[in-house]
Amino acid sequence: MKYEGSVYRPPSEAHSLIIQVTIGCSHNSCTFCPMYADKKFRIRSFEEVFADLEEARRENSHVERIFFADGDALCLSTEKLTPLLGAAKAIFPECGRIGVYGRAENILQKSDKELLRLKDAGLGIIYLGAESGSSEVLKRVNKKETPDEIVEAVHRAESAGIPVSVTFISGLGGREFLEEHAVQTGKMIGAMGASYVGLLTLMVAPGTPLWDDVASGRFIQLKTDEVLKELEHILINANCEKDCVIRSNHASNRLVIKGTLPDDKECLLNQAHRAMHDEKMLRPDRFRGF
Ligand code: SF4
Repeated sequence: MKYEGSVYRPPSEAHSLIIQVTIGCSHNSCTFCPMYADKKFRIRSFEEVFADLEEARRENSHVERIFFADGDALCLSTEKLTPLLGAAKAIFPECGRIGVYGRAENILQKSDKELLRLKDAGLGIIYLGAESGSSEVLKRVNKKETPDEIVEAVHRAESAGIPVSVTFISGLGGREFLEEHAVQTGKMIGAMGASYVGLLTLMVAPGTPLWDDVASGRFIQLKTDEVLKELEHILINANCEKDCVIRSNHASNRLVIKGTLPDDKECLLNQAHRAMHDEKMLRPDRFRGF
């Protein structure tokens, strides 16, 4: 398989077959994101993707999961995405799940009927980067969507039977918005009803606008104890009515936690609290990565 440029996928898709159905990200403007800066966004043709699927079939005797990249492949219209899901299912009948990265806007542009159609065609999970529950933080990082839009998008996909895995970035508000980012992120986790939540920790990448903000002193990054304090506030404010698996297993995190809200809330809070006083619970800084 030949891939165009760097290819990213969620940690839980580590063993999946990755198929690029789009190249780059159609938004490509978040101030912290270096992932697709060098790619000009485009949609690959059905023929190109179909050829990749057939080639992958020849190379793989068994494929459990497929992941459609790049950054927001869910921006494809239902008319374009449905045949691709169908082709993937037909070529890999053993495949149990097809996942995709998507933005809130991509979901909101689809009707409830279309979301059901995509689910029936095989779409098994959407990975959505909410990044923060704070409207101020989202505005500052040029995220495009508002907290209300993100909550609505997650609700709509989950109601159509498509589980959503939503990521947030610890430290994205910097020191100035630590409290606001933590409280509003916790509230969003409680309100949106996602099946999964993933927590990443901000790592500022060279070449991004956020890198310049750090260099000029406009943005002050959190230290590890502040990230843990933020995590505590996120958890305290995350009052989920429906089960939500929450984890921080991304390579950027120093503390790895995993549990299900609301049942494991006390246990997770306890871990965050203990980690503030026990360095051994933390992944060494040198092992962190994007
Ligand atoms: S964070 Fe997501 S939406 Fe923003 S530029 Fe990166 S890939 Fe695109």
